[in-house]
Amino acid sequence: MATVLGLMVALWALGAVFGVPGRVRLVTVAVLWLAVVLAQLVLPAGATLREATGGRAEPWLVLGGVAALALGYRALLRRIRARGAVPPAPPAPGSFGAAELERYARHILLREVGGPGQKRLKAARVLVVGAGGLGSPAILYLAAAGVGTIGIVDDDVVENSNLQRQIIHADDRIGLPKVASAAMAVKALNPFVTVVPHRLRLDEATARDLIAEYDLVLDGTDNFDTRYLVNRVCAALGKPLVAAAMTQWEGQISVYDPAQGAPCYECVFPVRPAPGLVPACAEAGVIAPLPGILGSMMALEALKLLVGAGQPLRGRLLIHDGLFGETRTIATRRRPDCAACGHLSQPVV
Ligand code: ZN
Repeated sequence: MATVLGLMVALWALGAVFGVPGRVRLVTVAVLWLAVVLAQLVLPAGATLREATGGRAEPWLVLGGVAALALGYRALLRRIRARGAVPPAPPAPGSFGAAELERYARHILLREVGGPGQKRLKAARVLVVGAGGLGSPAILYLAAAGVGTIGIVDDDVVENSNLQRQIIHADDRIGLPKVASAAMAVKALNPFVTVVPHRLRLDEATARDLIAEYDLVLDGTDNFDTRYLVNRVCAALGKPLVAAAMTQWEGQISVYDPAQGAPCYECVFPVRPAPGLVPACAEAGVIAPLPGILGSMMALEALKLLVGAGQPLRGRLLIHDGLFGETRTIATRRRPDCAACGHLSQPVV
């Protein structure tokens, strides 16, 4: 019996040395095993060949059974691996997988966006200052549109009185930091974009380094210190700024971009209002959909700037009066003596 087993091992090893495929070697060994089993069953007891190969069929049958079980188990494992473990190849950096192509199909159909524009959106880094009334729809639409990296600056927590208009937040997230609540909403809407939460209030020390990391800034804050600071830093760094403001039933929006010859915020509003003169939403009130309209327009202007479509609101201030359903646009001028952008060499247009 040992001789036959040795012969089987030798056949297997010789086949391996000469590069015979595993399946052929397996058949050869199986034929040899079958011949031995037949010899045990057919030849009379005491026959030389039968005695030389063990004299009994049972050990060979057990050996064959064990080998068959082992081979069957190996085949089963291979089949399970082939069925479940091969993940779809991830798309190359900068390109889109099938799910993303389907998600952005209505964008890709647009002549002004198309595949190249959608790629620019995916590569873009946009900073939204304030996750409040204006920031809520702006962030949601930037995320839905596929802007790859969205930074959100806010140091507040979600309050009950925010939910009348700040639609990115939800009742069960009252008490959470607004940046965390907004990040949860974005992830639920579009898992293909990245949110970078910055839980802080921008000041002279933090604004420059933070804004330098982004291509474009959206400002929806309701305090003038931050508003003027963000404008000055954007002007100094040459970053376009989309800023909107509102109160009660009326709001305004513009693209401040002195690097492209357009006025900055301080060109248009050179004198900071005295404290208390312009009431914030908390004191004056605001109608719920108004930040929805203006925040959506902020996202629209951002997308136009990122893909290079149409005419952004550079040098134009759009004013929307919700109470009377009127929208008008007035031209704005760059001031050569502007404290924020007067030093820039770009021509005043
Ligand atoms: Zn200016």
